[in-house]
Amino acid sequence: MYCNYCGKVIQDDANVCAYCGTRVGASVARKRLVRPRLGRKIAGVCLGCAEYFDIDVTVVRLTWLLTALMTGIGLLAYVIAWIVVPEEPLLLSAPVGRERVTQL
Ligand SMILES: [Zn+2]
Repeated sequence: MYCNYCGKVIQDDANVCAYCGTRVGASVARKRLVRPRLGRKIAGVCLGCAEYFDIDVTVVRLTWLLTALMTGIGLLAYVIAWIVVPEEPLLLSAPVGRERVTQL
């Protein structure tokens, strides 16, 4: 990996450039390919891809469907993606009422 500011070679997992002290890419939250829980049609593979590549989910679904119908690869790829791509982490809501119980 290269520092964007001074152009020197730095460690791949570095957060700060060792030469100029500038923050580098690793500090930015990495985008992950996940299957979202909301808005999915089947397993959320197309929706996950659309969000990852920042394209319209309808375009992804149509492309995937056409590929599946014409070649059959799309269907296989969907099943593989279903297995391989992790589900979006479940957002756990904070327990309600527990604080009140301890106050009593
Ligand atoms: Zn630098």
